Amino acid sequence: MSTEAAGFEELRDLYQEVILDHGRRPRNHLRLDPCDASARGDNPMCGDRVELFLRFAPDGRIARAAFLGRGCAVSQASASLLTETVPGLTPAEAKALAARLREMARTGARDESTEALARLSALSGVHEFPSRVKCATLAWHALEAALDGVKEASSE
Ligand code: ZN
Repeated sequence: MSTEAAGFEELRDLYQEVILDHGRRPRNHLRLDPCDASARGDNPMCGDRVELFLRFAPDGRIARAAFLGRGCAVSQASASLLTETVPGLTPAEAKALAARLREMARTGARDESTEALARLSALSGVHEFPSRVKCATLAWHALEAALDGVKEASSE
Protein backbone atom coordinates (compact mmCIF):
# COMPACT_ATOMS: atom_id res chain seq x y z
CA MET A 1 0.00 0.00 0.00
CA SER A 2 2.71 2.44 1.01
CA THR A 3 4.74 1.61 -2.11
CA GLU A 4 1.73 2.34 -4.26
CA ALA A 5 1.14 5.61 -2.47
CA ALA A 6 4.76 6.60 -3.00
CA GLY A 7 4.51 5.70 -6.67
CA PHE A 8 1.44 7.83 -7.01
CA GLU A 9 3.19 10.74 -5.32
CA GLU A 10 6.10 10.43 -7.71
CA LEU A 11 3.70 10.42 -10.59
CA ARG A 12 2.00 13.51 -9.25
CA ASP A 13 5.35 15.25 -8.96
CA LEU A 14 6.13 14.30 -12.52
CA TYR A 15 2.85 15.81 -13.70
CA GLN A 16 3.48 18.95 -11.72
CA GLU A 17 6.90 19.09 -13.31
CA VAL A 18 5.32 19.14 -16.78
CA ILE A 19 3.00 21.99 -15.80
CA LEU A 20 5.75 24.01 -14.13
CA ASP A 21 8.08 23.50 -17.07
CA HIS A 22 5.50 24.57 -19.66
CA GLY A 23 4.25 27.36 -17.41
CA ARG A 24 7.74 28.75 -17.06
CA ARG A 25 8.88 28.20 -20.63
CA PRO A 26 5.76 28.15 -22.80
CA ARG A 27 6.30 26.59 -26.23
CA ASN A 28 5.06 28.28 -29.41
CA HIS A 29 4.41 31.49 -27.49
CA LEU A 30 4.02 33.84 -30.43
CA ARG A 31 1.48 35.30 -32.81
CA LEU A 32 1.13 33.42 -36.09
CA ASP A 33 0.76 36.07 -38.74
CA PRO A 34 -0.77 35.24 -41.11
CA CYS A 35 -2.88 32.50 -39.60
CA ASP A 36 -5.89 30.57 -40.88
CA ALA A 37 -7.90 30.59 -37.67
CA SER A 38 -7.67 32.20 -34.27
CA ALA A 39 -9.77 32.68 -31.17
CA ARG A 40 -9.49 34.27 -27.77
CA GLY A 41 -10.38 32.71 -24.48
CA ASP A 42 -10.96 34.55 -21.27
CA ASN A 43 -11.25 33.09 -17.78
CA PRO A 44 -12.24 36.04 -15.59
CA MET A 45 -12.39 33.86 -12.47
CA CYS A 46 -8.61 33.60 -12.50
CA GLY A 47 -7.61 36.40 -14.88
CA ASP A 48 -6.32 34.02 -17.55
CA ARG A 49 -6.29 35.06 -21.18
CA VAL A 50 -5.28 33.01 -24.18
CA GLU A 51 -5.27 33.86 -27.86
CA LEU A 52 -4.75 30.84 -30.04
CA PHE A 53 -3.54 30.83 -33.66
CA LEU A 54 -3.77 27.97 -36.13
CA ARG A 55 -2.39 27.29 -39.57
CA PHE A 56 -3.71 24.47 -41.71
CA ALA A 57 -1.88 22.24 -44.16
CA PRO A 58 -3.27 21.83 -47.69
CA ASP A 59 -4.87 18.52 -46.60
CA GLY A 60 -6.84 20.33 -43.90
CA ARG A 61 -4.83 19.08 -40.95
CA ILE A 62 -3.49 21.49 -38.37
CA ALA A 63 0.04 22.39 -39.45
CA ARG A 64 1.01 24.80 -36.70
CA ALA A 65 -0.44 26.13 -33.48
CA ALA A 66 0.76 29.01 -31.34
CA PHE A 67 -0.61 31.20 -28.60
CA LEU A 68 -0.20 34.40 -26.68
CA GLY A 69 -1.56 34.79 -23.23
CA ARG A 70 -1.10 35.52 -19.61
CA GLY A 71 -2.41 34.06 -16.44
CA CYS A 72 -1.68 31.26 -14.03
CA ALA A 73 0.82 28.49 -14.71
CA VAL A 74 -1.92 25.94 -15.35
CA SER A 75 -3.64 28.02 -18.04
CA GLN A 76 -0.39 28.85 -19.82
CA ALA A 77 1.00 25.32 -19.51
CA SER A 78 -2.22 23.93 -20.93
CA ALA A 79 -2.01 26.28 -23.92
CA SER A 80 1.65 25.40 -24.41
CA LEU A 81 0.91 21.67 -24.30
CA LEU A 82 -1.94 22.20 -26.75
CA THR A 83 0.33 23.88 -29.32
CA GLU A 84 2.72 20.93 -29.12
CA THR A 85 -0.02 18.33 -29.37
CA VAL A 86 -2.42 19.39 -32.11
CA PRO A 87 -0.14 19.76 -35.17
CA GLY A 88 -0.80 16.84 -37.50
CA LEU A 89 -4.37 16.36 -36.30
CA THR A 90 -7.48 16.91 -38.38
CA PRO A 91 -9.95 19.43 -36.94
CA ALA A 92 -12.21 16.53 -35.91
CA GLU A 93 -9.33 14.78 -34.13
CA ALA A 94 -8.37 18.02 -32.39
CA LYS A 95 -11.94 18.50 -31.17
CA ALA A 96 -12.06 14.94 -29.89
CA LEU A 97 -8.81 15.60 -28.04
CA ALA A 98 -10.28 18.79 -26.54
CA ALA A 99 -13.28 16.80 -25.29
CA ARG A 100 -10.91 14.21 -23.82
CA LEU A 101 -8.90 16.92 -22.08
CA ARG A 102 -12.03 18.49 -20.58
CA GLU A 103 -13.03 15.08 -19.28
CA MET A 104 -9.59 14.53 -17.71
CA ALA A 105 -9.65 17.95 -16.06
CA ARG A 106 -13.14 17.39 -14.66
CA THR A 107 -12.80 13.82 -13.45
CA GLY A 108 -9.05 13.37 -12.94
CA ALA A 109 -9.12 10.29 -15.18
CA ARG A 110 -5.79 9.93 -16.91
CA ASP A 111 -5.32 8.49 -20.33
CA GLU A 112 -1.89 7.21 -21.22
CA SER A 113 -2.81 5.33 -24.38
CA THR A 114 -0.69 7.69 -26.47
CA GLU A 115 2.36 9.77 -25.61
CA ALA A 116 0.42 12.96 -26.30
CA LEU A 117 -2.41 11.97 -23.96
CA ALA A 118 0.08 10.89 -21.31
CA ARG A 119 1.65 14.34 -21.40
CA LEU A 120 -1.74 16.05 -21.32
CA SER A 121 -2.64 13.90 -18.34
CA ALA A 122 -0.49 16.31 -16.34
CA LEU A 123 -3.55 18.54 -16.41
CA SER A 124 -5.82 15.93 -14.86
CA GLY A 125 -4.56 16.93 -11.40
CA VAL A 126 -6.72 20.06 -11.51
CA HIS A 127 -9.86 18.03 -10.86
CA GLU A 128 -8.97 18.28 -7.16
CA PHE A 129 -9.29 22.05 -7.46
CA PRO A 130 -12.60 22.82 -9.18
CA SER A 131 -11.76 26.51 -9.60
CA ARG A 132 -8.70 25.45 -11.63
CA VAL A 133 -10.58 23.32 -14.12
CA LYS A 134 -11.37 26.37 -16.26
CA CYS A 135 -7.69 27.35 -16.21
CA ALA A 136 -6.79 23.96 -17.68
CA THR A 137 -9.55 23.94 -20.30
CA LEU A 138 -9.38 27.59 -21.44
CA ALA A 139 -6.98 27.05 -24.34
CA TRP A 140 -8.99 24.02 -25.47
CA HIS A 141 -12.19 26.07 -25.58
CA ALA A 142 -10.27 28.58 -27.69
CA LEU A 143 -9.15 25.73 -29.94
CA GLU A 144 -12.72 24.57 -30.49
CA ALA A 145 -13.85 28.16 -31.12
CA ALA A 146 -11.04 28.69 -33.66
CA LEU A 147 -11.95 25.46 -35.45
CA ASP A 148 -15.60 26.54 -35.51
CA GLY A 149 -14.66 29.96 -36.85
CA VAL A 150 -15.77 31.72 -33.67
CA LYS A 151 -13.49 34.48 -32.39
CA GLU A 152 -14.38 34.48 -28.72
CA ALA A 153 -14.41 31.28 -26.72
CA SER A 154 -16.68 30.90 -23.78
CA SER A 155 -15.06 29.27 -20.78
CA GLU A 156 -18.40 27.77 -19.78
ZN1 ZN B 1 -5.92 30.24 -13.98
